[in-house]
Amino acid sequence: MKLQEYHAKTLLRAQGLPVPEYSITQTAAEARSAAEGYLAAGSDKVVIKAQVLVGGRGKAGGVKLAASAHEAESVATQILGMDIKGTTVRRVLVAPAADIAAEYYLACVLDRTARRVLVMGSAEGGVEIEDVAAVRPDAIKQVHAHPHLGLLDYQARELAFELGLGGAHLRDFVTIAKGIFRTMIANDADLVEINPLAIVRGPGGDGQATESLQCLDAKITIDDSALSRHPALEQMRDLDEEDPVDIVAREQGLSFIRLDGSIGCMVNGAGLAMTTMDLINRAGGKPANFLDIGGGAKSDKVAAAMSLILSDENVQAILVNIFGGIARGDEVAHGLVEARRQQERHVPMVVRIVGTNSEQAAAILLEAGDPDIQTAQTLDEEVKRVVAASAGVLA
Ligand code: GDP
Ligand code: MN
Repeated sequence: MKLQEYHAKTLLRAQGLPVPEYSITQTAAEARSAAEGYLAAGSDKVVIKAQVLVGGRGKAGGVKLAASAHEAESVATQILGMDIKGTTVRRVLVAPAADIAAEYYLACVLDRTARRVLVMGSAEGGVEIEDVAAVRPDAIKQVHAHPHLGLLDYQARELAFELGLGGAHLRDFVTIAKGIFRTMIANDADLVEINPLAIVRGPGGDGQATESLQCLDAKITIDDSALSRHPALEQMRDLDEEDPVDIVAREQGLSFIRLDGSIGCMVNGAGLAMTTMDLINRAGGKPANFLDIGGGAKSDKVAAAMSLILSDENVQAILVNIFGGIARGDEVAHGLVEARRQQERHVPMVVRIVGTNSEQAAAILLEAGDPDIQTAQTLDEEVKRVVAASAGVLA
């Protein structure tokens, strides 16, 4: 689950990381009054940032500075409702604009191959970091945190040296790097990214200019499988920005991933689903989705899965491959027949149900007398038929 910047910043703050103050607003008038507050408190400018779950907001025009309350209002008017990579902006973050001296990149990601948390840093942070990674990967420094001891001081210091940070910045960087590592672990995140981690100029107590490291942007994604341990994070889910298909799939406990082919697949078990997709590809077809309906699927779940598949207009044929163990064949068959009744759009469907209660399943399907439903005994036969059906050929 991806978190909005303002939620991500809450988690950073909770670990004591330096995040400048901000307000979240949903209207231009609210943005204006937040800006008035910051300007009155001594800021020269405010920054207004679109809150959407896609990267590259700066380049897309979703991050702008304003020097007056009036300008803040008109910038907020432009950004609210703006479309950024297919997402409509519903909220903006308003904050005192930072006077940036340098931009760094700092992130923790789960490195599955190494089975450790990888900490990455670069002195070339900012909006071009993807280009830096592609063109000069050596400009991104990496270190694996210790699996039990975490990110050690010397590792964080080495990273700081490689980024060219010294003095007070070096000490602060070590604290920040260890803090984002803690943020990662405390929230079961698989990514915590600060870009930019900026050296920000500010007035010191005695009028002397000071510089400090600040987390100006934050991106966090939480491991979905760990969300049950973090009810407070679940509250941060932004349903407005989720694909409706994903919302239904999550509510029904289905693993559903849309693909670009024409054969809808309904299978129980992730391994069987992947094998089925491989066989479809080998037979010259293209799966429209990955779908694991899970063990013990009841008929209502099967019906929900069917409507998810049929909501994709590219689907020309459906393959149902159920290996009944805990899942009972008759339940699935009832679900399929029920789904057919509910759905207006009918496409050819080839069904193979083996294992628990497969005879009852066959009888239910036969009794339904639905001309769009064929049954198959072997997977090879089934795949051949469904590929033919998806190409408009009746096998
Ligand atoms: P992103 O494009 O979605 O990653 O959004 P960011 O929050 O990282 O903002 C993009 C860029 O806008 C940053 O790299 C900065 O250069 C600039 N920016 C963001 N906040 C401020 C700010 O407070 N002051 C100034 N001067 N620039 C900012
Ligand atoms: Mn950024």
